[in-house]
Amino acid sequence: MKKPSGKISRRDLMMGSTAVGGLALLGTPGFSFAQAAAAASAAPSSNLDDLAGLLRGDLILPHHDGYDEARKVWNGMIDKHPAAIARCSGAADVMDVVKYAREKGIPVSVRGGGHNVAGKALKDGAITIDLGGMHGVRVDAAKKRARVQGGAKWAAVDRETLAFDLVTTGGTVSATGVGGLTLGGGLGWIMRKHGLSCDNVMSADVVTADGRLLVANKNENSDLYWAIRGGGGNFGVVTSFEFKLHDLEPITGGMAMYPQSMLKDMFHFYRDYTSKAPDSVSAGAGVIVGPPGTALEGQSAGVIIVCHKGPAGDGERLVKPIKDFGPPALDFIGPTTYKAQQSLFDAGSPPGLRNYWRSNMMTELSDAAIDALVARAGELPPPASMIFVEHMGGAVGRVGAHDTAFSNRHAQYNTSVFGTWVNADEDERNIAWVRTFGDELRKFATGGAYVNYMAADEAAGNIKAAYDANFKRLTEVKRKYDPTNFFSGNQNITP
Ligand SMILES: Cc1cc2nc3c(=O)[nH]c(=O)nc-3n(C[C@H](O)[C@H](O)[C@H](O)COP(=O)(O)OP(=O)(O)OC[C@H]3O[C@@H](n4cnc5c(N)ncnc54)[C@H](O)[C@@H]3O)c2cc1C
Repeated sequence: MKKPSGKISRRDLMMGSTAVGGLALLGTPGFSFAQAAAAASAAPSSNLDDLAGLLRGDLILPHHDGYDEARKVWNGMIDKHPAAIARCSGAADVMDVVKYAREKGIPVSVRGGGHNVAGKALKDGAITIDLGGMHGVRVDAAKKRARVQGGAKWAAVDRETLAFDLVTTGGTVSATGVGGLTLGGGLGWIMRKHGLSCDNVMSADVVTADGRLLVANKNENSDLYWAIRGGGGNFGVVTSFEFKLHDLEPITGGMAMYPQSMLKDMFHFYRDYTSKAPDSVSAGAGVIVGPPGTALEGQSAGVIIVCHKGPAGDGERLVKPIKDFGPPALDFIGPTTYKAQQSLFDAGSPPGLRNYWRSNMMTELSDAAIDALVARAGELPPPASMIFVEHMGGAVGRVGAHDTAFSNRHAQYNTSVFGTWVNADEDERNIAWVRTFGDELRKFATGGAYVNYMAADEAAGNIKAAYDANFKRLTEVKRKYDPTNFFSGNQNITP
């Protein structure tokens, strides 16, 4: 295998960039080789060898053997061809890639954990600022703080903080990136007690579009600090976050499953249960394709997943209504570990499957919304599609609508349709199904969708609605820190 190295010849580089530009255009009807040659010579002059020399990390180009592996992201439907992938080793690499790309007029994209369903980590013809190698986590147990590099995944954060019996709100799948998830908000099992992931960010180091590294916290660049807590990757590259940590307490959690015939009753029970739940309880309810080898195999099975963080006796008492309801066909709820709760969804979310999602924030789960969920439950594309309602409120809702950029503080539920299938020839049908279903649910929505669950073709109006109350200020901050929209590979706020 040809290993990417810091020393790459100009000839190699020209071949790489020509191949990218040519391949992209050759699919265009009527496009000739003469046009391809012209396009190649018009492409940004490929002095990428200079860039390779600047970096401590590797630069991967299209003709390197590792290129196809390096451009894979979690969603198997994403097939983008960046001009180069810069595997940054630290803030200095990020600063140099930003300055270099600006100078040469080459676009960039930013890759954290690569889990974005819209594939925003990659852009055709751009330099990918790949933070995957920047995954360090350092815990200051006395101060209850963790410094987390911008390319870390949640498994790494939990691993390091749990060593000190400390935790912070992270995603529900351990392979998801801290970067994208936190910048868009960050919904997790302990958010009702401790806030969103972004609510726990105390400070961040951000490389802005001019290539400077700025500290963003309540005292320094406070407008930038405000914007990165919910405004996505619009404002720069976060090379590290400082998170507030909380004491690990006993966890009571897990999931219960119900037969298809109980779906309507289950959602009504869930609404009632969550309306009375204290902040120590987070619960989600949905519909999955019943797991093989169980009594629910192949059915559209109901599922309730719960997490209680607090004294075990309280946990036992507070999850009992779920265990009593029905009763469930399968019941895996009881005392557990934080690590087990945090990886409950891991096996059901493998990389490489084809995914298309829609979500809608709601202030209530009305009877009509429940009817709409149940009506489509029998149509889930196999093998891993899911309808899922996340209960928000609690500490999430106690933060003011304008205190951070995250705009959906009023929402009580985030209702999502996750379409997941295997074969490309099913794309059209399954995407159409998710879109239709998502649009049906939109009439129950208040405040648009969750930015982190948006698909690549989300309408600009929906993106604006998701930033809702804070859109004007976000635009102003964008204008200040990124006036040319250099960072546009995200759910974009134009300056
Ligand atoms: C299986 C799965 C489970 C999920 N579970 C949850 C969940 O429980 N809760 C939740 O809230 N969301 C969840 N999500 C959604 C998740 O928040 C988004 O997909 C998010 O974009 C993932 O972040 P990433 O760093 O892995 O993404 P990437 O694809 O690497 O990046 C997406 C975009 O985020 C920005 N970005 C990433 N890192 C940085 C950085 N360091 N600095 C600047 N910009 C950056 C960039 O704009 C980038 O293009 C889940 C997604 C998947 C696929």
